[in-house]
Amino acid sequence: MKIVLQDLTKIFPSRNKKSTDEVVAVDHFNFEIPDGKLIGLLGPSGCGKSTTLYMISGLQKPTAGKIFFGEDDVTELSTEKRGIGLVFQNYALYPHMTVLQNILFPLQNLTGPDKLTKVQMIERAQEAARLVQIEELLDRKPSELSGGQQQRVAIARALVKMPRVLLLDEPLSNLDARLRLQTREEIRRIQKETGITTVFVTHDQEEAMSISDMIVVMKLGVVQQTGKPQEVYDDPANLFVAKFLGTPPINVFKGRVEGGWLYLDNERVLSVGAVPDQDVMVGIRPEGFIIDPNGPMHCKISSVEVMGRDVSVVSTHPALVSPSIRSIVDADNKIDPAQQTIAYRIKPHKLFIFDSENEERIPFEVK
Ligand code: ADP
Ligand code: MG
Repeated sequence: MKIVLQDLTKIFPSRNKKSTDEVVAVDHFNFEIPDGKLIGLLGPSGCGKSTTLYMISGLQKPTAGKIFFGEDDVTELSTEKRGIGLVFQNYALYPHMTVLQNILFPLQNLTGPDKLTKVQMIERAQEAARLVQIEELLDRKPSELSGGQQQRVAIARALVKMPRVLLLDEPLSNLDARLRLQTREEIRRIQKETGITTVFVTHDQEEAMSISDMIVVMKLGVVQQTGKPQEVYDDPANLFVAKFLGTPPINVFKGRVEGGWLYLDNERVLSVGAVPDQDVMVGIRPEGFIIDPNGPMHCKISSVEVMGRDVSVVSTHPALVSPSIRSIVDADNKIDPAQQTIAYRIKPHKLFIFDSENEERIPFEVK
């Protein structure tokens, strides 16, 4: 089922009655989440991700705007009536209940035509447990489970009511690195298997990029860009989005366009066609550097780290804004350890220029 957010806005009044510093947590959010897709809602802490999710769930009431599930306006509908499954960062399982009892719990409050018999309930719980692969753990208490297993129970509990929408708020943040990887693949598998429209909130760009059909990047309550992960990475709308996506992060420089050329310090790095003369901000992806003795850009090497397939060269440049340049080049490139400087040419589609005032992307024609 598709979800439509229409001018969705949440303003929290200031705590102090005298001050006027209200918080615009979510600012005119317009988006259509396609049916059956997994959307990664991404941004730094405090940008309004949870507030958006809570409004979709009905736990928080919007200050303005509307929410539609399919064609139905659910803005005024209570959480219970929305048919959603919610999973939070802290698994919030009932410690005195077994895994089975935890998963069954949401079914026991169903009334009227939705009411299930005991046998039906157990069948549903077993089906949910099978989906998240914890069938063998049904008799255990939460304290007898690992973090990853507890989070699977929480997901099973969210799935058992066969929700129309699955909402996950940083569900992997309490897991260690290896489990995080494994569980995110698991969530992707479950989502594909069930086809439930899912919103996955995270501040971890790699996590969102790896499992989402589409990502939504937010900053200070305002949507910056939406699109397929690779499209947003390859075509960032502004410097914030360019900096937020990618590991290692994009390398940022102060530059200048003059006579159709981009200059970094006094080096003429790239032809940028019809861009008017101006000061600009420049981002170059780590994979955008090609070692070339005749390349226009000269950097001072700080260190060279061999990482198997790739080599990471850490260097500096007079026009650099980031702490250092990280370039990733193929390990076939032999770099002399005694070498103090390195010359690069730049792959044009891995370099972005931005307005130095508003930091919006300035498109240019690659020759
Ligand atoms: P995120 O989940 O992206 O970290 P949140 O949605 O939790 O961000 O918060 C967005 C903004 O709204 C933050 O500035 C936060 O301090 C503020 N905020 C969230 N909940 C409340 C609340 N109940 N009362 C006042 N301010 C809040
Ligand atoms: Mg949050």
